[in-house]
Amino acid sequence: MTGSIEGLERFDSPGKGRGLRVTRAFKVGELLFSSPAYCYVLSAKERGCYCEFCFNRKEGLARCGKCKKAFYCNAKCQKGDWAMHKLECSAMLAFGENWCPSEMSRLVARILAKKKTQKERCVSEKLLLIGDVQSHVEDEDNERREMNEADLAGLHRFYSKHLEVPEHKDLLTLFSQVACNGFTIEDDELSHMGTAIYPDVALINHSCLPSVIVTYKGTSAEIRAVQDMKPGDEVLISYIDILYPTDDRNSRLRENYYFSCECQECKSKSKDKAKMKVRKRRDPIEPDVISNMVRYARKAIREFRTSKHIKTPSELLEMCEQSLEEMGTIFDDANVYMLHMMYQAMGVCLYMEDPEGAIKYGEKIIKPYSRLYPPYSLNVSSMYLKLGRLYMGLEKHSAGVSALKKAMAVMEVAHGKDHSYVAELRKEIAQK
Ligand SMILES: [Zn+2]
Ligand SMILES: [Zn+2]
Ligand SMILES: [Zn+2]
Repeated sequence: MTGSIEGLERFDSPGKGRGLRVTRAFKVGELLFSSPAYCYVLSAKERGCYCEFCFNRKEGLARCGKCKKAFYCNAKCQKGDWAMHKLECSAMLAFGENWCPSEMSRLVARILAKKKTQKERCVSEKLLLIGDVQSHVEDEDNERREMNEADLAGLHRFYSKHLEVPEHKDLLTLFSQVACNGFTIEDDELSHMGTAIYPDVALINHSCLPSVIVTYKGTSAEIRAVQDMKPGDEVLISYIDILYPTDDRNSRLRENYYFSCECQECKSKSKDKAKMKVRKRRDPIEPDVISNMVRYARKAIREFRTSKHIKTPSELLEMCEQSLEEMGTIFDDANVYMLHMMYQAMGVCLYMEDPEGAIKYGEKIIKPYSRLYPPYSLNVSSMYLKLGRLYMGLEKHSAGVSALKKAMAVMEVAHGKDHSYVAELRKEIAQK
């Protein structure tokens, strides 16, 4: 660990390398530890909604007088952020509309700047810890390598004035380490706010049956138990969305983190059947018809992902509806591939400000979600939250309050009872 945390210790987890375990009991909802970010960056698209320095969400933030693009609570936050913001402030002015580094390049620039300016021992230890993770540059596929090269080019183009950019090979290694160890900071509805590095949290190994959940308070990460833990239990988070069947989860883990999971659920595959639920027919559906449809579903999901930034919202909605219709001939509505496309369709409806459309999909998603995810899941709470807020917006108060209360039950455990999100939610429920 970067420092010692009461009740926790580093250990060698069999088959996984270093890991983290508890040395005392923790109850569901209890905070294991809170971890400040070593380095973080607010998403460019969230500028103006959050303070760049402390990630406070509020109205009336003050903008940087020079670039007019960064927003802060007050002069104190602005001053605190300057060491990082100065990497971008004048460059944004110089490049104007053409300033477009990826979030990854932005985070790496900050890590490099921090490495250079801060010479204290604790910082080098933290970086050592990041470097501790195996680098997998060699076995990377072409697609990822090309992405890395684009990020790298962005770093040279937008940051070379303020940074000594290291050698190509070292930089590639750093990018792949950050890709493996970066955490996405998300809000209460799981919308992406930024990316950060938490060396202590990066120690935690993966399981599809996680014992803890990570939430964010400002720029810090908080780790809370979602299962009762006894001394000696390993602390386990999920690196991926655990909605999907075992094969899909493991290809995801191999692609992004270079390992396969051997947790109890990956061995027993106990939920796979429910996750791949097919329609009830008088004559059972042939296995090869099902596997063909699974192939179709995976392709549709991939195609949607790559079209997301190219197609118009109505084209995207049509893609969702078409694939739902096709899959619906074989798959039940509670099948995870159906749920995936419904979730995407709901997102498009929200973007298009079509609350009725969004509710239509959300109502189909929420029940299977609650069954397929573990009891305390941010995917479930955020879905209840979105639905609840949509109902409230349409003056459907009793449905709204009921959904918001269900979100609250999860969030009190995952975020803690005193989190500002929970306080906001309490207000929303009381208001009606
Ligand atoms: Zn602030
Ligand atoms: Zn500025
Ligand atoms: Zn697993």
